[in-house]
Amino acid sequence: MATIPENIQQVRARIAAACAGAQRPVQSVTLLCVSKTFGAEAVREAHAAGERRFGENYVQEGVDKVAALADLRGDIEWHLIGPLQSNKTRVVAEHFDWVHSVDRLKVAQRLSEQRPAHLPPLQVCLQVNISAQASKSGLAPQEVAGVAREVAALPGLKLRGLMAIPEPAGDLDSQRRPHAALRQLLGELQREGLDVDTLSMGMSADLEAAVMEGATIVRVGTAIFGGR
Ligand SMILES: *Cc1c(COP(=O)(O)O)cnc(C)c1O
Repeated sequence: MATIPENIQQVRARIAAACAGAQRPVQSVTLLCVSKTFGAEAVREAHAAGERRFGENYVQEGVDKVAALADLRGDIEWHLIGPLQSNKTRVVAEHFDWVHSVDRLKVAQRLSEQRPAHLPPLQVCLQVNISAQASKSGLAPQEVAGVAREVAALPGLKLRGLMAIPEPAGDLDSQRRPHAALRQLLGELQREGLDVDTLSMGMSADLEAAVMEGATIVRVGTAIFGGR
């Protein structure tokens, strides 16, 4: 089995190839290593291989890992990418740098109020249910502009852009379609004058399609840490 550093090399090569194909500079795509269900030692290995951004799905697991890796705190950016209930916002506001999964104004308001004053604003993305899956969380596309305007005005937050988890699809064209829709939605926000620059989309199975459609952060778990 390949090691974590070998997997990271492969994922970086995939991102570089996708960027070359899309005529994008390789630095325009940030790799977020999704460490959910893997221990602090796995994060340490990826950090030693040069990675600095890690994504967690579950609030308590993430907070525990931040604590276990306190010696690296200034050198790691922690991103929450999983569902966030409003009764869990305080620890998230206190311990994370980014939240990709804001899907309600109420959650955003609480995160803003609870963000400690000594920390920079929490960087947030709005999660969009881009494939209209009944089972998935996220704002409906037509709700995004209204919520984005309100979130952009919250003092403890910095609205960065949009995130989606499209329905898995086998072929490249079907993978590209929802990513293209998210890109268009971000463009609408930009045309309205909102200062947003982030498209968080693409995972182990579809990062090439996401990069072709403008992803600026790809969230990769399995291809780095192995199956869960
Ligand atoms: C688990 C997860 C990922 C990573 O998925 P892989 O297929 O393991 O790369 C990315 N984004 C979110 C929101 C996830 O929950």
